Amino acid sequence: MNKTTVLPEGPDASGHFGEFGGRYVPETLVAPLEELAAEFAKARKDPEFQRELKEMRRDFTGRPTPLYFAERLTQHCGGAKIYLKREDLLHTGAHKINNALGQVLLARRMGKKRIIAETGAGQHGVATATMAARYGMECVIYMGEEDMRRQALNVTRMRMLGARVVGVTAGQKTLKEAVNEAMRDWVTNVRTTHYVLGTAYGAHPYPYMVREFHRVIGEEARTQLMDREGKLPDVICACVGGGSNAIGIFYAFLDEPKVRLVGVEAGGEGIKPGRHAARFQGGKLGVLQGSKSFLLQNSDVSAGLDYAAVGPEHCHLREIGRAEYTYATDDEALDAFSKLGKVEGILPALETAHAVAFAMKEAPKLKKEQILLVNLSGRGDKDVNEAARFLLKS
Ligand SMILES: *Cc1c(COP(=O)(O)O)cnc(C)c1O
Repeated sequence: MNKTTVLPEGPDASGHFGEFGGRYVPETLVAPLEELAAEFAKARKDPEFQRELKEMRRDFTGRPTPLYFAERLTQHCGGAKIYLKREDLLHTGAHKINNALGQVLLARRMGKKRIIAETGAGQHGVATATMAARYGMECVIYMGEEDMRRQALNVTRMRMLGARVVGVTAGQKTLKEAVNEAMRDWVTNVRTTHYVLGTAYGAHPYPYMVREFHRVIGEEARTQLMDREGKLPDVICACVGGGSNAIGIFYAFLDEPKVRLVGVEAGGEGIKPGRHAARFQGGKLGVLQGSKSFLLQNSDVSAGLDYAAVGPEHCHLREIGRAEYTYATDDEALDAFSKLGKVEGILPALETAHAVAFAMKEAPKLKKEQILLVNLSGRGDKDVNEAARFLLKS
């Protein structure tokens, strides 16, 4: 790998990572996206903004998150030492709040009074509603009606936090349609409203900005592991929906070619048309929701990892061979969910369980002195009923 092909801080001037990403949007959104990019660039260099972000991470969301040596899972798998980066311990239960906090602070700087977001499994909606409540801003969350049914607990949480949850009835009534509705709202209300996009995709500057708000995950993990083991991990894995928790933990290691980076997509019932959400397995290159990347044509996968597109920086990292992408099936993820609960006392989110499933397959292939770092992106409270339907049948 040629180091210089990866290392520029951000995408090029047109918002592309290699040939991916960019800004393919209606005319009305060009100026607001430029304004957002400019404000973000200023905020990054503003010590006052950085101070507030740092304080809120520490006192409100709960950073740094622990790095945990999963001793019993390691014994169970019989191979590399497995470490978990505990993003599941953050306020509201997943990494999503890293980005929601950053973007809501940015929205305040821009004088916006109204916050909108889309959500799939509801974690991003909850994180955004939480930050909007904290700063006294109006909040509207778009969610597919099918997802509302499947994730009723998170819908209630958002409402209790003062957000208005708008059910979307178009198409398959899931995340893709919710993103379209949020974009429509934004086009109409852009002067008063900031759209808190929930993952590292969409039009520039979102993929870049979202990565910047999540890169703290890898930066902390790198320091924590150096303190503890005196060396870098051999393999890092993370589940990939849009790609935000994965890029968040990968980014601090991009310039360490010996560290293998593995993204794990949702393989559903296996790689058959309509039965999985692994864009890199059966998807094709196209433009969706403002950005050029690998897309799924249609899917039937449960709320969580069924993003129609994968973030452009991941497409680029795969293209240049810096990161690899694989998948775990539903059955493997459920098995990992169950195993982590029983041997470590941690119930992961079902999304996260895809990364744990990969770790369980990979660890035995590695030597005992090697280190496998898993990004534990979220906790499983929201998923226990769904998981119980499969796991507690007998
Ligand atoms: C939303 C979510 C994901 C998927 O989103 P990414 O942007 O790919 O990280 C993964 N894990 C959890 C716990 C989530 O809530």
